[in-house]
Parts: sequence; structure tokens; C-alpha cells
Amino acid sequence: MRILVIEDEPKLGDYLRKGLSESGFAVDLARTGIEGRNLALDGDYDVLVLDVMLPGIDGFAVLEAVRKSKAMPVLMLTARDEVADRVRGLQSGADDYLSKPFAFSELLARIQALLRRGKLQEVTRYALKDLSLDLTTRKASRNGQRLDLTAKEFALLTLLMRRQGQVLSRTVLAEQVWEMNFDSETNVVEVAVRRLRSKIVDPFDEKLLHTVRGMGYVLESRQGDSS
Ligand code: CA
Repeated sequence: MRILVIEDEPKLGDYLRKGLSESGFAVDLARTGIEGRNLALDGDYDVLVLDVMLPGIDGFAVLEAVRKSKAMPVLMLTARDEVADRVRGLQSGADDYLSKPFAFSELLARIQALLRRGKLQEVTRYALKDLSLDLTTRKASRNGQRLDLTAKEFALLTLLMRRQGQVLSRTVLAEQVWEMNFDSETNVVEVAVRRLRSKIVDPFDEKLLHTVRGMGYVLESRQGDSS
């Protein structure tokens, strides 16, 4: 998934680029309205995250230009909880908005919601080889055997299943599963992954859940991978 972020505040822009990259997106960051507009018009993005207050041309002008030729979902970032800005953004063709300051996990959830919106049905079942997960019945199984998971383990597995094939960092897992800011002193994520692995991997043949050193964890099948 490719995402374009147009944000002029240096710290916030860097933070968003880092966080979204860690969440598996390919991220381009533009720091002015004109640069952002040009990238948006030339590139092929799945989502646009657009700040309202920008130097040169503002977010509304960028949105107007983009909407003439592009249908990608647009999430606008408003500086304050300004009703007028939100209304204007939505009327101009923005799909959603978020007021600053915001939690990264909320931004991510809204982006994911925008990406899902186009699909006919919300996915409630996931599968990878003989591992399957049903969000409606909240049952996980592997090779036909029911897996006995705690609520946190189930949430962790759901995230890994939803984003299978993508490396998920400890920061993202901590923020999305535990809703806490990552503290490098705590090993809660490592411990939970180890427990999950003991239930969903150890008793079975294929590994499926892999540690990517220095980056995080990825759920995928590597059997038959010739590399
Ligand atoms: Ca700004």
C-alpha cells in the first residue's frame, strides 16, 4: 500500500513517515502544498494524508486539484478542532478528518478504515495455510485443532493475520494490541509473542510466525520459498 503524507511540520512529518513505514506502508512525504499536489497528481497512491495548514497552497487547494482527477481516499489533518475546517474539508471531497493532536493508532485505524471502505464486505475470517481465525465466533484453529488463546493473544494473532506478510514492529504491536506507548524497558510484546508462538507454532510442523531481527515479527508461510 502506498501512502502520501503532506505535512509541513518537520517533527510530525518525520513521525508519521516512520510510523506508517513501520506499519507496512510505502510512504512518500511532501513538506509543502505544491510538492504534495504534484506528487499526488503524478503518483499512484492508495491513501492521501493531507494537512490543512500548509505553506504555498493549503490543503483545501491541494484537495481541489487532486479531486479533479484522482479518486483515492483523503484523510485531512486539521490544526484545531475547527468545525468549519472539517465541514469545508468534507464538502471538498475529503473522506475523513482528524484533529491535531491525535494518537498515531487512531490515524492508522482511520487509514485502514478508508482502505476497507471500498470493499463489499468486511473480512471476518482469515486463513494462512492450516491456521485460521474467525472474528465472529472468536475462534482460532490450526490443523483442525481449536487454539486456546487469551484475549490479548487473540488480538495479537488477529493483527498478524490481517497484515500477514508484513513485518510488524514491537511499537506497532504494543500500540495496537495494548494501546500503550512503546517503552523500550518493557518486554510485554516479546513475552506475548513467545506465548502465542508456543500455542500456534510449536506443536505444528510449519513455523509461520517469524522474528525479523531488529524489525519485528511477520506471519507468513515460507515453505516452498526458493530464496
Ligand atoms: Ca501544517
